[in-house]
Amino acid sequence: MRQSNHPYIGRFAPSPSGDLHFGSLVSAFASYADARQHFGQWILRIDDIDQPRTKSGAAESIIHTLNAFGFKWNNSIQWQSERISQYEQVIQELKDRNAVYICACSRKEISKIAASGVDGMIYPGTCRDQGHKENSSRAIRIRTNSERIYFSDRVFGHFEQNLETLSGDFIIRRADKITAYQLAVVVDDYLDQVSHVVRGADLLMSTCKQIYLGGLLGYPTLDFAHTPLVINKSGKKLSKSDRAFPVNPDTPLTALIAAWRFLGQQDITPHVQTVEEFWDEATTKWSIQKVPADYP
Ligand code: GLU
Repeated sequence: MRQSNHPYIGRFAPSPSGDLHFGSLVSAFASYADARQHFGQWILRIDDIDQPRTKSGAAESIIHTLNAFGFKWNNSIQWQSERISQYEQVIQELKDRNAVYICACSRKEISKIAASGVDGMIYPGTCRDQGHKENSSRAIRIRTNSERIYFSDRVFGHFEQNLETLSGDFIIRRADKITAYQLAVVVDDYLDQVSHVVRGADLLMSTCKQIYLGGLLGYPTLDFAHTPLVINKSGKKLSKSDRAFPVNPDTPLTALIAAWRFLGQQDITPHVQTVEEFWDEATTKWSIQKVPADYP
């Protein structure tokens, strides 16, 4: 369990699949303002483990934009691609404990038999007791159970899930051998000693999986806050890959003020002319209680 005297360490962990857009600026903003208000540290981690989704030059562009927007991170930037051996160590530990198994099902086979859950299809456990051996095209799944996983989100309030019925045993290493996001993020937050996660509500449905994994591994519990999603005209979440709403690093104040308003905060006074002045004022005035709990 996290000790109450653990220092505040927050983070922003963009995937380099495109330029920073307004939706990711909003998440970065909320986690940075919250960390600063708590006199905490703030870590920048580039979630570049999913190489097929990584776009060349995107990480550099995100870093450039964050710099232009006045974000300052502690320590050097962390890169998921440099942590593969640490993820593998954890996977080995889970294998040794028989907490995982090899899954030979294809996506197509699962879609024929599985019901839809809150976060994709609910895996019916077909391979659970089959004792399949690893090979080049098999995923690894974690065994879930009917335990109620719950947490109190600082924006959305009480949230709980029964993973067995809502998602089923989920993948921790994909069939293409890439560590799944759910496992990588848990190991990363542990290695980075993160105490507070503030991120977009698209990940609200992943949080119980991450709490479950962290619990299995004996990691400290984290505080979570999810921020409302920015939706495009067709009602979809903005995504980096569709190049939606890029933010302009040449006019940072405009986008920062828009993010501030989007997060339901009170107005910034007109004397604010620079990003430094903006952050000074935003740090003092930031109120997570004002962030609207809108979930599309
Ligand atoms: N890399 C993830 C994304 O860009 C975010 C990970 C996280 O904040 O947990 O959607």
